[in-house]
Amino acid sequence: MPLLSPVPDDDGAPFWRYAARGELRVQACAAPDCGELRFPPRPCCPHCHSFDSVWRRMSGRGRIWSYVVPHPPLLPGYAEQAPYNAIVVELAEAPRIRLVGNLVTGPDAPLGSVDPERLRIGARVQVVFGPADPLDRSGTASTTVPRWVLERP
Ligand code: ZN
Repeated sequence: MPLLSPVPDDDGAPFWRYAARGELRVQACAAPDCGELRFPPRPCCPHCHSFDSVWRRMSGRGRIWSYVVPHPPLLPGYAEQAPYNAIVVELAEAPRIRLVGNLVTGPDAPLGSVDPERLRIGARVQVVFGPADPLDRSGTASTTVPRWVLERP
């Protein structure tokens, strides 16, 4: 069974287009005296209420802010890759921006490629980009998603 793929809405579509190019970008307010980063993407700046925005490229570095190791019952595709992790990463440039993803050993590695014993709050991570379902062999093009590897494996 395949894993779930992101279903982009109009506000979030640029995030996925940049991800497909291997770029981690976060929406930022384009008002000259604001520039506030915001995530998840949305039309209006929560700080100054401007509707102007740009997509700023991030370094892709961050730290594990929290994590879980999901337990059954799991959807069939996920059960095949368990035990795996879901981590929350705070970005180095913007610690208030937190992205949910998976810690893996490489861009094409399965969700369960990192031993759960190795997960640590505060560990430094770096973004990588790979297919939404690394084990899918159907041949259909998979959405590219950001995942995370340890800076020092
Ligand atoms: Zn603003």
